Amino acid sequence: MVAGVRNWLAVVLGCLLALALPAAVQAATGTAAASDRVASASEVALLSGMTLATPAEAARLPQHGPDWTWLVLRDPSQLSVMPGRWNLMIDEVRFARLSIVATGTGGAHLAFTRGADQLGPLAAPGAMLRVAVPIPGPQVRSLAIGFERIDDLSLLRKVTAAGPARTRTLEHRWLLTMGIFAGLLASAFAYNLFVPAGHGYSFQRWYLVWVGVTLAYGLTWANISAMAIPALVGPAAVRLDTVLVGLTVALACLFLLEVLEPGTVPRRLRRVVRLGSVACIGSGVIAADERLVPALPSDIAFNLVMLFCVLASLATITVAALRGSRVVRLYLIGWTPVIVVFALRSARNFGLLAQSDTVDLATFGAIAFETLVFSLLIADRFSSLMKQRDVAEASVREMAVEKDTLERAAQTDFLTGLGNRAYFHQRTRALLEQNRRFTLFLMDVDNLKELNDRYGHDAGDALLQHVGESLAALLDDDTFCARIGGDEFAVVTVADEASDIAGSLDAIQGMMWARRTWSGILSLSIGSTRSGLARTIAQVFQQADVALYEAKRQGRGQRQAFEGPLQQRIKIKHDMIRAAHWGLRRNEFALHFQPIIDLASGQCVSVEALLRWHHPRLGLLTPDAFECVMSEVDVGAAVQDRVMALAIAELKRGHFSGTLAVNFTSTDLDGPDSAVRLLQRLASVGVAPSSLCVEVTEGIVLGLGRSDPVGALRVLHQAGVRIALDDFGTGYASLVHLKEIPVDTLKIDRSFIAGLLTDGGESEEIVRAVLALGTGLKKSVIAEGVETPVQLARLREMGCAFGQGFLFGRPSAIFEQSIAPRAAA
Ligand code: C2E
Ligand code: CA
Ligand code: CA
Repeated sequence: MVAGVRNWLAVVLGCLLALALPAAVQAATGTAAASDRVASASEVALLSGMTLATPAEAARLPQHGPDWTWLVLRDPSQLSVMPGRWNLMIDEVRFARLSIVATGTGGAHLAFTRGADQLGPLAAPGAMLRVAVPIPGPQVRSLAIGFERIDDLSLLRKVTAAGPARTRTLEHRWLLTMGIFAGLLASAFAYNLFVPAGHGYSFQRWYLVWVGVTLAYGLTWANISAMAIPALVGPAAVRLDTVLVGLTVALACLFLLEVLEPGTVPRRLRRVVRLGSVACIGSGVIAADERLVPALPSDIAFNLVMLFCVLASLATITVAALRGSRVVRLYLIGWTPVIVVFALRSARNFGLLAQSDTVDLATFGAIAFETLVFSLLIADRFSSLMKQRDVAEASVREMAVEKDTLERAAQTDFLTGLGNRAYFHQRTRALLEQNRRFTLFLMDVDNLKELNDRYGHDAGDALLQHVGESLAALLDDDTFCARIGGDEFAVVTVADEASDIAGSLDAIQGMMWARRTWSGILSLSIGSTRSGLARTIAQVFQQADVALYEAKRQGRGQRQAFEGPLQQRIKIKHDMIRAAHWGLRRNEFALHFQPIIDLASGQCVSVEALLRWHHPRLGLLTPDAFECVMSEVDVGAAVQDRVMALAIAELKRGHFSGTLAVNFTSTDLDGPDSAVRLLQRLASVGVAPSSLCVEVTEGIVLGLGRSDPVGALRVLHQAGVRIALDDFGTGYASLVHLKEIPVDTLKIDRSFIAGLLTDGGESEEIVRAVLALGTGLKKSVIAEGVETPVQLARLREMGCAFGQGFLFGRPSAIFEQSIAPRAAA
């Protein structure tokens, strides 16, 4: 605000200065008003009193010919006020040679001819040629001025006679004006050259060029340059001026376009102004040399183009002002005096105003003023750009801080203050990308669920916060921690020796913890792994997870590293899984069949389908050998799907009238929908549901996953599929299950049959109890793993109706054979 007021004050001051300049100059050089009056009395305008010489007159003059134009003073008495020596002042125009002839009474005579390149000594400030005439005014009888090949007589503005005092006054006036002009422009030039804003703003460059060219124009026009370069006088100066004035006008327009705020000038208008500027420079160059194009038409054309530029600039200023430009106000202030004096000059050139030096002087005063205002304008523009930049920088800084805060929030676990899962991933990924090895400790908080269930979530949160605090104590440059799940924490260290961390973790195991009203003993299950050759987070994570699983298997509060036998096991598992994928494609999986016998008749009533894998390297494998494959979600389901397909194919062949028992997993029993799909599959090949028996263990029925096996079993049972409860007696056998699950058959686990006559009656009691249960609930009972005739006899005695085992037949690849029992008694 204060800066704004200062700027405006400076502008007003500058305005006053510019308007006062010509007057001040006049006052300073006129010495006194009285002497000025004398001086003006001794200046006589001659041009209006001169006419073209008649052919007869011309013939008498020393230089004549078709190229010469002579002006003759008709009334020499005009000069009577001139003192003994006076100066003939001739406006600078373009010609080849200048000749002056004057005669006086008593034989006094002046005959003078000079070429355009010999005019140096005649140069006078104010665009004039000065010729000293040694004939006192009253004695002058004739005066003639001749030009060889003059550009156009109409371009000659003035010819005057001036006494020595008047000449001095005029010249001092010019020197002072041009001194101020040159001083202002040179300082503006120097300032903008040496104190750039540092951002290379284009308007500052345009301004520099404009000031430079305008300075050259002023100095050349006013013949100040001629003091240093004598050749720059007369026609040469006029030519150079014409080029420079065109450039000045064009550059002022281009500067205007640059300095205005972006978006304040329509694109089309910009183009018009640019075009005008280029035309201005071009027409200036053409008008500079009358030898190419006649002087008068090219001069008129040039003036029209300049006028066009001025009008285009005016339009630009108007539009910019309407569009809220701030800069344009200052521009207008700087520009108005220039427009006014150029209008006055044009009026004078067209003869509407009397010839007077004041207009010319005011031109340069106005330009000096314009320069001053433009400098202020640039300063103003800088300050507003600077402000904009400051605001932009501040908002960038603010945004960076905000982003930082958000990022941190997004990566923080609010309960413990440690990093969260995202943080863990980001840091671990970075380590992997940098090829840095690290050790990952993955841990589960034991007993959290019990604590939550018993005392509520506040108690659980207190424990988690305690764990978070304990882990935070391990943080250093090499180590970071994160809570990556409900009760799951991770510690990652890049230290070569991870045993320190392991030791610290072991140290907090079993410690008492107390927080608010809760307390307990800290127990963590920890699995760790070294990143080694792992390429992805998933790989590292999986290894640590396997170790964690192993630790949990060993009981709570244990730590297990992923190394040695565990690592070996995992490798084998991965090899098996990979082989299983190939095995599916190469049809290496098959079913073997084992008969189930009616112990009374010895007849085969049913057949159990048992999975086999013809492993290309390991030979024929039973499911126990590839349990790890079956427990793997994807490949396990795919293999089990193959089992179903093979079993249905076997049923479709219809070789056997009894049921085919198939071992099911929980993926086969994923809610009623899966049961419906299976029934549709059976129907599509024309297999009766009653010819299928589904064998499930209690573990599967209890449904540890999200699926609804009981729902599926109900649908199947209702459709006629038979259900057998496998390995009965080994699971969580509960009578409640027997009531809930639609079961037709109980299969006594073979461990009880094996113990029948060997374990002192314990197994026998169990077998007896299951048989009684079967009778009571009206379910058939099958004894599994019957190997010996003694076992068979005992089972018969106890009233067991069905049996399965090596005694009756081993699982065989051929269905037909399996139904022909070998050892029915
Ligand atoms: P399971 O359902 O209890 O199957 C009976 C197992 O006892 C079979 O082992 C069979 O060969 C064996 N066995 C039969 N009679 C005797 C005997 O007299 N003495 C001894 N010691 N064993 C006998 P197998 O084929 O190795 O199958 C093992 C387990 O693999 C099965 O136990 C079953 O849980 C699972 N399994 C078999 N086939 C499949 C299948 O297609 N899908 C799924 N998911 N699991 C299957
Ligand atoms: Ca079975
Ligand atoms: Ca079984």
